[in-house]
Amino acid sequence: MNKIVILGGGFAGVYTAKALNKIGLRGCEIELISDNNYFIFQPLLPEVAAGTLNSADAVTPIRQMLKGIKFRNAEVSDIDFKSKKVFLYQGFKKSKHYISYDHLVIALGQISNLEIVPGLKDHAFKMRSLQDAHDLRNHIIGCLELADVTKDNSLRKRLLNFVVIGGGFSGVETIGEIKEMIDRLIPYYGSLTKNEVNLHIVEYANQLLPDMDKNIGEYTLKRFKKKNIHIHLNTALEEVTEYKVFISNKASISSHTVISTIGSSVSSLIKNSDLELEYGKIITNGFFQVKGKKNVWAIGDAALIPNKDKNQMLFKQKKIAFAPPNAQFAVRQGKLLASNISNTFKKKSLKEFQYTSKGSLASLGSRDGVGKIHFLTVKGLIAWLIWRVFYLSFIPSFSTKVRVFFGWIVESILPRNAVMTRSLKNDSVRFQNFKKGDVVFEEGMIADGFYIVLKGSFKNTFRKEKSGQNFQKFYKVNDHFGARVILSGNRRTGTIEALEDSQVVKIDKVTFGILNSHFLPFKKYFNDYLRENFKSLDK
Ligand SMILES: Cc1cc2nc3c(=O)[nH]c(=O)nc-3n(C[C@H](O)[C@H](O)[C@H](O)COP(=O)(O)OP(=O)(O)OC[C@H]3O[C@@H](n4cnc5c(N)ncnc54)[C@H](O)[C@@H]3O)c2cc1C
Repeated sequence: MNKIVILGGGFAGVYTAKALNKIGLRGCEIELISDNNYFIFQPLLPEVAAGTLNSADAVTPIRQMLKGIKFRNAEVSDIDFKSKKVFLYQGFKKSKHYISYDHLVIALGQISNLEIVPGLKDHAFKMRSLQDAHDLRNHIIGCLELADVTKDNSLRKRLLNFVVIGGGFSGVETIGEIKEMIDRLIPYYGSLTKNEVNLHIVEYANQLLPDMDKNIGEYTLKRFKKKNIHIHLNTALEEVTEYKVFISNKASISSHTVISTIGSSVSSLIKNSDLELEYGKIITNGFFQVKGKKNVWAIGDAALIPNKDKNQMLFKQKKIAFAPPNAQFAVRQGKLLASNISNTFKKKSLKEFQYTSKGSLASLGSRDGVGKIHFLTVKGLIAWLIWRVFYLSFIPSFSTKVRVFFGWIVESILPRNAVMTRSLKNDSVRFQNFKKGDVVFEEGMIADGFYIVLKGSFKNTFRKEKSGQNFQKFYKVNDHFGARVILSGNRRTGTIEALEDSQVVKIDKVTFGILNSHFLPFKKYFNDYLRENFKSLDK
């Protein structure tokens, strides 16, 4: 029995499995491994982030899509090409297992790489997984909730500034959808007005949708300007901190919401393997065979695949056309790969990949869209309707099509769902970046976390509890602050200010409390620390 193992349950992996199933290879077992048990239709993520669709409605359980194929919900950790084994973590305890293969299909897509700009990884929301979209939606609603009631004007301004990084498909669709959601929710927040909300899109190129024709970029720009979206073209993102987004020409936007649609790379599993990479992707030939590895194939966003269609040039400077990383291509690659694997078993010749895009469409939100179908440019309501019909037809499962269709109908007649199911940025451990002069927390605030200084330095200005006299304390790298008030259950007695560009790791109050209750060396350290450092200050 030959075993074909497919890694990745995205467009590329699922369509390969479907096509192999259809071919019905005799004497072959097919197994698909993915870290989620659902297939996600990524083009719908901006609609999930904007509450147009429920998160569970935009995905399809893989088992229901691939009847007759073995599915394993596990995380692939590494591959040993010599012994033909895939190692993985599975189960609640993430125990390590391996499975052997005769043919291996690598379709692991890409991950967000936010290391490219300082602070981006610590402060930005991503738009890649269902969780990302879900978190962003909750966060935006949380910002509106707080902005409606706070008396702090600078905080209110920060909460109502939303910044999307990247003006490609994902960025444009995300900002369009968020704009529509906010416009529809604002009437329910008594003290907020539409004019106070500012959405910004930052793009390095000189047009929005830089992969499309200039007139399409210009139309998008015109429509966004009409919707009062601030557009920053020819602009690089330079740094992100807890309170601000720094862009080219020493400009900055104060914001609590940065959404990154830029930066991607293959996963560390592929980076750390001995696979040959170019432009950060696995090199294959036109048949999808991985360079230097027998019976190993790679497709989708993870692979660099030559495409015989010279118009579809991805890296023009090399005068080779490569397939662009999108769903349209991944699906075609999956189908052809299944036939190439089948032909390998039958000792027939393989077929090289050649595909010409049928066009691209983008939704700009509020029943507006833009795109190109073959040579025809479409704009406005008609483009948006074609976008919806096209994506509905492209969704690979009948039940998901029905859910999405009715989701769209319901949201068009009812108010947008404003339920916040998770509170503002409440990760148990977070990294935070501050610029000189930024305040981490102020006297009188409820203690929300404990902070360890990783970079830079901070000043704590606080009052002696009895005399009321002001006192200053300084923290440098490896020092920490914030423990005393968490343990005493009071409000902050001091104000912490960054003395230079600095970074901390923040451990939330609950996690800190659990460690302090149950990890005795931790508890002893803080008992001693508080006794030695704060006793005299309280006099
Ligand atoms: C917001 C957004 C909007 C988009 N809009 C469009 C659009 O409108 N049109 C279009 O054509 N394309 C669009 N794309 C691009 C398109 O979604 C991708 O090109 C396509 O998903 C690539 O398919 P893939 O199978 O290679 O990768 P993916 O779909 O990313 O699938 C990779 C799979 O591998 C799994 N995986 C990864 N690592 C591991 C591991 N270690 N162990 C186990 N499983 C693992 C992942 O969970 C995932 O299921 C969009 C992408 C995004 C993010």
